[in-house]
Amino acid sequence: DAMLRLSGVEKVYNRGQTGEVRVLMGADLVLARGEMVALVAPSGAGKSTLLHIAGLLDTADAGRVEIGGEDMTGLSDRRRTTLRRQEVGFVYQFHHLLPEFTALENVVLPQLADGVARRTAEARARELLEQVGVGARAGHRPSALSGGEQQRVAFCRALANSPRILLADEPTGNLDPGTSDQVFAALELLVRDSGLSALIATHNLELAARMDRILRLDQGRVVAG
Ligand code: ADP
Ligand code: ADP
Repeated sequence: DAMLRLSGVEKVYNRGQTGEVRVLMGADLVLARGEMVALVAPSGAGKSTLLHIAGLLDTADAGRVEIGGEDMTGLSDRRRTTLRRQEVGFVYQFHHLLPEFTALENVVLPQLADGVARRTAEARARELLEQVGVGARAGHRPSALSGGEQQRVAFCRALANSPRILLADEPTGNLDPGTSDQVFAALELLVRDSGLSALIATHNLELAARMDRILRLDQGRVVAG
């Protein structure tokens, strides 16, 4: 019961005089419903590229991406953008919260953009923030929050529109080890509670070991870890 399936995905970057970089060379991956999977590989191996293709932020040069059994190949840019907004939540190493807005507003805004009424959006935002222990910080701007708090708010924002897939690129990469553990626990809670499927790139092998499975990127292919 695949939520996300990549088959034979290839990606080549053309870097002018330095030539081509073949980053993905036939990557296959299946993420089942409700599964939380770690993607572990050294820097430069192509983790971000794979996440961007899986999350419809970038297109593959060859191969296929299916979300919920639907083929994403050859969609119009418009349809791709719609599906990305509905189906996929992204989390990065850096929170990318809007600095002029409070934590609450950062979680409310994507919902308003999706046509949700303000009252409903605020209630959902509060619920998410409380779930990860930052409810009391809802009225603060990102700059007034600690790194761990900022990242927990970013998780709430990623889940605000109830996507079916969460893609995370080194979500705890900027945090010290103690904070990293706590923040990962918050992410785990949100993922498990919402039943979504998550693919999480990390260098942290202890965190990877807490997930359902570990995958590695090796020579442009995905292999069991
Ligand atoms: P990772 O996330 O594992 O660090 P990336 O997917 O970011 O790996 O990058 C894989 C390789 O592709 C690296 O060599 C990187 O420099 C190169 N790369 C990534 N994005 C681009 C791009 N837009 N243009 C050219 N090269 C890129
Ligand atoms: P990470 O190591 O977290 O993957 P990077 O710093 O490698 O992040 O990449 C950040 C962004 O820059 C990504 O969107 C990636 O596609 C792009 N990028 C990475 N390497 C290159 C490159 N050599 N040329 C152009 N863009 C690149």
